[in-house]
Amino acid sequence: MKLSIKILIGIITLLLAIYIGNSLMQQPHAPTGALPTVAPTPTPAPTATPTPKPKPTPKPTPKPTPTATAKPTATPAPTATPTPLATPAKTYTHNQIPILYYHCVSDTFFGIKELFVTPKNFDEQLRYLKEQGYTAIDFHQLSNVQTIEKPILITFDDGYENNYTEAYPILKKYGMRATIFIAVNLLDRDGYLKRAKLNEMKYLISYQSHTMTHPELTKLSLPEVDKELSESKRQLEAMTGEKMVALAYPFGKYNQDIIQLTKKYYQYAVNIRAGFYQLSGSAYEMKRIYVPLEMDIEKFKQKLLP
Ligand SMILES: [Zn+2]
Repeated sequence: MKLSIKILIGIITLLLAIYIGNSLMQQPHAPTGALPTVAPTPTPAPTATPTPKPKPTPKPTPKPTPTATAKPTATPAPTATPTPLATPAKTYTHNQIPILYYHCVSDTFFGIKELFVTPKNFDEQLRYLKEQGYTAIDFHQLSNVQTIEKPILITFDDGYENNYTEAYPILKKYGMRATIFIAVNLLDRDGYLKRAKLNEMKYLISYQSHTMTHPELTKLSLPEVDKELSESKRQLEAMTGEKMVALAYPFGKYNQDIIQLTKKYYQYAVNIRAGFYQLSGSAYEMKRIYVPLEMDIEKFKQKLLP
């Protein structure tokens, strides 16, 4: 029994020694083995946290793009400003506008002498207008007349050939625009304008309608009047490429029915009554200032006084 106890104690002591020895030997292994496994987890954490951090910082880079979109909004603004700058151009208030009224410019008289003005007088008249600062406009420019200082219209009726040979060189000399009211069927006749010459004067001369056959419109039926107005408009527009906006009533004859028909095709119509065109009045009964042969420069000046 004593021996078996001694053996048992010996076995227990041995087992204890083995246990302690094992546990002592495992301790150094535990930290070394645990450290590499724990360490990888903190190391990816710092590397993972810096990488998401730069990712939020790229978010401020989308902010420069909104500032880039602000730049395009800034560029339309300068382009919009030039247009308002153009509109505040100086404006003038005109209550009335003089429309001069001629037929022939020549020293060689034929037919009715009263229809003539000498080239010398015509030159003197235009020089005066130029000196006084008048701007010779056409009927197209009437819609914009408040931007023009001292506007005046120079008109010729019937379309005589001397408008080309005598009046046109003087108009060119002073750079003044004029309007010729053409009766279509008179073109190419002796003493009248040639169709072939119309284009040459185009840059300075506006062509407008004086009907087809130069009739007294009040003596025609309304369908006949309609034909005179519409056909002359159609043919002159085809011939000149210019829009017909104005009519001169032949012999200055018209009535309310004729005015109504004229409104179908034209924006303006002139008569032969003496006076200024009143902007507050009818655009289909525009008065004119006739310039006859005997009118000297002093009378001409007086006629232009308001
Ligand atoms: Zn006429």
